[in-house]
Amino acid sequence: MSCFLEKNKYHFFDVGYRKLFKQGERLKLCTSCLMEKYKEYLNFFQYRAIVIEPFKPLNAYQFYNFQQMKKYNFRKEDIEKMKVLIPGIKKHCDCGRSARFLWCSPEVYFRDVYKFNMNSQYKGDSLCIKCLCNHLKNIIIREQIYFDEVFPPMGESDGLITSFEC
Ligand SMILES: [Zn+2]
Ligand SMILES: [Zn+2]
Repeated sequence: MSCFLEKNKYHFFDVGYRKLFKQGERLKLCTSCLMEKYKEYLNFFQYRAIVIEPFKPLNAYQFYNFQQMKKYNFRKEDIEKMKVLIPGIKKHCDCGRSARFLWCSPEVYFRDVYKFNMNSQYKGDSLCIKCLCNHLKNIIIREQIYFDEVFPPMGESDGLITSFEC
């Protein structure tokens, strides 16, 4: 599937996580189709996540479960702080649907995508899938972001959705 016109910019949606998984679609998509696909995967995903608003200078948007984060360069103390925030996600979004995502501003980055300055007192917004996707889409359009790589949330545990440099 490829919905965009060759001359236009597109997002690269990579469910195969750089071929880490054999199965998994790899699609070039416009912003509307990207958000449709992203929503589909959020619906498959049964866990919760901290979501950092897309941060324009960074060209990728990825999900890491807390287990995977340990294998990368994320600091242990940051992973622990995020785990503490997860139970603070309210049961319901302001719209009334059930919430599983904690929306955070990019100010939580501490000069580095691997370092964060959030603490257990951090107050993000608890969002449902629909409101999360609306927020994401608005920012992507407003900031004219095109991602070179999008990994949707998948797998069997809570985690972090974050901008990244790829
Ligand atoms: Zn499209
Ligand atoms: Zn909502």
